[in-house]
Amino acid sequence: LASDSAAFITGTVLVADGGHLAGNVDLSYGKVVLITGSSTGIGAQTAIQFAKSGAQVVVTGRNGQRVSDVGKQCSDISPKGLKALEVLADVSKEDDCKRLIQSTVEAFNRIDVLVNNAGFGLNSRITDEDYCLKLDTMFASNVKSAVRLTQLSVKYLEKTKGSIVNISSISGLIRDCPNISGYCMTKSALDMFSKCMAVELGDKGIRVNTVSPGCVRTTCRITRGETPEDTDKFYNKVSERYPIGRHGVPEDMATAIMYLASDRAAFLTGTILVSDGGHLAGNVDLSYGKVVLITG
Ligand code: NDP
Repeated sequence: LASDSAAFITGTVLVADGGHLAGNVDLSYGKVVLITGSSTGIGAQTAIQFAKSGAQVVVTGRNGQRVSDVGKQCSDISPKGLKALEVLADVSKEDDCKRLIQSTVEAFNRIDVLVNNAGFGLNSRITDEDYCLKLDTMFASNVKSAVRLTQLSVKYLEKTKGSIVNISSISGLIRDCPNISGYCMTKSALDMFSKCMAVELGDKGIRVNTVSPGCVRTTCRITRGETPEDTDKFYNKVSERYPIGRHGVPEDMATAIMYLASDRAAFLTGTILVSDGGHLAGNVDLSYGKVVLITG
């Protein structure tokens, strides 16, 4: 927080407590929490942790089998045996977003927390002929979905004085991988949307915050077509480069998300909580691997 890398972060409370606050079962007890992209990865773990802490969760994604597997895990772990609501939806589609909110409200009559987590990255170079097409696809899933779901849920969140947590990326703040300019732009847009919404929805009592993960091991690279061996190599390299000595795991993000969504974070809105094992602060990779000859 003291470094120049945190130049735009102010007014933030960064809780460093190994997840104690988030683990506190009272924090989300009885809340209705909708997490997009909860069929796998960060979203799935977030749904499971919320369910474990007593929240009523809505699990959603496009893959029916995975949605139902995660839904079952949530129901099994719920201390009160609350059954997770499972909704198949493609959040890049307006009708699906409407159905998702409708189903949630029909089932529970309220929404306390909306976690806009669904998203993905496509390799993109400006010289690609289909660059703009890729950009449109990513914007639809990574940004417009969050915009639509925010629009649709405002009237419910206003009643519960609820909150929104948008899942961005450090790629919204720095460009530290090749060929991801399109993805970086979607995440920067999401960051700005969150800040604007924090201001615009503040008087309705709705808080809007962002979690920006560093590299977190999920199946996203395998889904993109990488082999398991290449994936292992990639994450090992990341662990070497990250100041904390390891890559992130979905539980790390669930902790940050649950904290921002909780009443303990009542005075936090418009904040970007970077959870990246110190990568951004250290920014160790600026000259990583380069051979530098300095004469004189
Ligand atoms: P995964 O690929 O593991 O999971 C992505 C989830 O998003 C899946 O549940 C998928 O559902 C869902 N999803 C994607 N597009 C859509 C869509 N159009 N409609 C509905 N669901 C959709 O990703 P991660 O868990 O790794 O990433 C989660 C979020 O965190 C993303 O926004 C990502 O950009 C961000 N992030 C991840 C980082 C990482 O290193 N893993 C780093 C920084 C940010 P289904 O397959 O069922 O359709």
